Amino acid sequence: MRIGILALQGAFAEHAQMLSALGTRPELVRSPAHLDGLDGLILPGGESTSMRRLAGQNGLDIALRDFGKIRPVWGVCAGLILLAAKVEGEEPFLGLMDMCVARNAYGRQRESFVHDLRIEGLVPHFSGVFIRAPRVLETGPKVEILARQNGAPVFLRQGCLLATSFHPELTGDGRVHGLFLDVCAKGRAEAGGGAFAAQE
Ligand code: GLN
Repeated sequence: MRIGILALQGAFAEHAQMLSALGTRPELVRSPAHLDGLDGLILPGGESTSMRRLAGQNGLDIALRDFGKIRPVWGVCAGLILLAAKVEGEEPFLGLMDMCVARNAYGRQRESFVHDLRIEGLVPHFSGVFIRAPRVLETGPKVEILARQNGAPVFLRQGCLLATSFHPELTGDGRVHGLFLDVCAKGRAEAGGGAFAAQE
């Protein structure tokens, strides 16, 4: 399988390390051509404003949107913001996931925290690392909520799109990456078929 990581800014190296540890060679994505033939893409945490500015400079914004309509994408923290259809107080970027989010809703860097999460039907305990995380305020009917923290959704799925407001790449626990690789493998097996239909 060929898995890409958006590598304009932010925590892409940590995801690359995790994928390598799981036996998948990561491909760093910095231009539209880098998306060709990928089976899935990770949008890492970092600063969503910087990523959207950089992506807008070489047409990567449009290519990412087209990619996410037909292939698995997992947005982490800033990446979740990039996926959202609505972002409080600003224009959405990719607009692919039917949810409304508020940036930096958990406070500043020093208010970062770790919370034990139960991921629905998948993982009983997972250490959720939250760093200047966005809060998901609303979700549409196509969005499944796989984990919550204090009632707010923190892990969401819409067809082949995943979003987490926490950072699995910082834990040394590869189970959420494993889940994403499963989604990508299924998408690859069913390319053009049912796996992607739920996303439309
Ligand atoms: N606060 C960042 C943003 O709004 C996201 C933080 C993160 O990715 N850890 O883009």
